[in-house]
Amino acid sequence: MASMVKAEAISSSSSPATTRSSRRRRVLMFPLPFQGHITPMLQLAGVLHAHGGLDVTVFHAPVNAPDPSRHPAAYRFVAVGDGNEFAAEAAALIPTGSYGDFPAALMALDALLRVPFEDALRRALAAEEDEDVAACLVVDSNFRGVQAVGERLGVPTLSLRTGGACCLAAYLAFPELCAKGILPPDQLQLDMPLTELPPLRLRDMVLSTTSSHATMATCLERILDSSRCSSGVILNTFNDLENSDLEKIATDLNVPVYAIGPLHKISIGLESSLLTQDRNCLEWLDKQETESVLYVSFGSLASMDREELLEIAWGLVDSQMSFLWVIRPNLAHGSQRVHLPDGFEEAIRGRGMVISWAPQQDVLSHRAVGGFWTHNGWNSTLESICDGVPMICRPHFADQMINTRYVQEVWKIGFELEGKLERETIERAVRRLMCKEEGKEMRRRAKALKNQARISVEKEGSSKTAIDMLI
Ligand code: UDP
Repeated sequence: MASMVKAEAISSSSSPATTRSSRRRRVLMFPLPFQGHITPMLQLAGVLHAHGGLDVTVFHAPVNAPDPSRHPAAYRFVAVGDGNEFAAEAAALIPTGSYGDFPAALMALDALLRVPFEDALRRALAAEEDEDVAACLVVDSNFRGVQAVGERLGVPTLSLRTGGACCLAAYLAFPELCAKGILPPDQLQLDMPLTELPPLRLRDMVLSTTSSHATMATCLERILDSSRCSSGVILNTFNDLENSDLEKIATDLNVPVYAIGPLHKISIGLESSLLTQDRNCLEWLDKQETESVLYVSFGSLASMDREELLEIAWGLVDSQMSFLWVIRPNLAHGSQRVHLPDGFEEAIRGRGMVISWAPQQDVLSHRAVGGFWTHNGWNSTLESICDGVPMICRPHFADQMINTRYVQEVWKIGFELEGKLERETIERAVRRLMCKEEGKEMRRRAKALKNQARISVEKEGSSKTAIDMLI
C-alpha cells in the first residue's frame, strides 16, 4: 500500500505532463544492452503505449540493439553513438560468462554512452513537435550517468529495476553491512545468516567473485542513487509476491515505488529476443505428458566448465526424466560451441531435446513443463513463478543467489542445487523435483503464486492499479 499512496503524490506533482496536457505525451526509454534488461524495458514500453496511449522513443546502445521491425511502427528507435569504432568499443565492454566483472562493465558502459546520449537527447528534445512532449525518461537503474543527463536537460526520470524487490532491499542494506564491517566478507563466515536480511546469508551478498569490493560498492551506490534521484522506481514484480520488501523500499527510498509486474503477462505478443528462438521445441512439448518435462536453461550470460556440462548431460540421462535443455553457443567458458558426449544423443532419444535458444515464456506456460532448472536471473524466476513451475536453482552471480534464497526459503517453490556439479546429485535433484511428494508440494505452491500473479494484472489488481498511477 505504501507504494500506492506515494504514487498518488507524484501523479499530482508531475507538472510537465499535466500543465501541457493538450499535447501527446512521449516516454523516452534507455535500456541496458543485455537480454534480461532489454526485455522488461520493451515490455514496459508496450504497456505504456497500449494502456497509456503514450508515444515511445527507445534510445539504445549500438550493441545488442533491439529490432524495430518487431515493435509498433509508431515507436522511434534512436541509436546512441556513431560509427563502427564506437560500436566496437561498446561491444568490447559486454562481458561474457559467469566470471565477467559485471559491476565494472556496467559502469564503463554508462560512462561511454552518456556523452553521445546527451547529443541524442538534445536532438530529440529540439525535434519535439507541438503535439508531442517528452513526459519522462525511463532509464535502467544501472544508468546513473545517463539519467543525470536527463536531469540536466530538464526531463523527469524514472528508474527501472529489472530485478526483484528482494534484490533492491538487499542492495539498500549493503552500505550498512559495510559500515558494520560485515562486508567485505570474512571467507570463513560465508554461511553466517544476515539478521538484517533474512533469509540471506553472507555468501548471498557476494555478488561477484571477480569484482573488487570497491567496484561492487560503487556500482551499488550508483544504483541506489538512480532510485533516490528519480521521480519513481519501477519494479517488475507484484505486491502479493514481495509485499514486505516493497514496503521496505518505499520507506527507505522515499520516492514512489511502482510494482507493475509481471510485465510479460501484461505486455503480450512482444518478442525482443536477441538470439533466434527454436520454436520446434513447442511441437515436441505438445507430444509430451502433462508436467513431465524438466526445462533446463541458464539465461543469456551464465557459463560453466565443459566438465560441468558433461555432468549435467549424464545427470539428465540418469534421471530417466524428459527434458528440454538450452545450450547457448557460449554456455561453455571460452567456447563458441559445445560438443555433447558420445552416446548422449542415443541415450535421450524420444525423451530429451537440446536447443540453442528457447521461446522461454511459451515453454514455461506449456502444460508439459513440470519443472525448471534455472540460474535464477530475475526474469527467469518471475516467468517460472507466473506459470506455476517449481525450480531447481543453480545461481551464478549478481542477484541470482538472492533470488534462489527467496525461491527456497520464502516462497518454498524450489531448492538450491549446491556444491560441485556431479551426475549423481543432479539425478537426485531432478527426481526430487519431478517425482517426489516434496516436488509436488512446491508445484502446488508455485501454482498458488501463479494465481496471485494473474489477479494482480486484472482490473483493480495491484499491478494494474500501479500501472494506471504510473501512466
Ligand atoms: N530466455 C529466452 N530463451 C532462452 C533462455 C532465456 O528467451 O533459451 C529469456 C528469458 O525468458 C528471460 C531472459 O532470456 O526473459 C533471461 O533473463 P534472466 O533475467 O532470467 O537472466 P540473464 O540472462 O539476465 O542472466
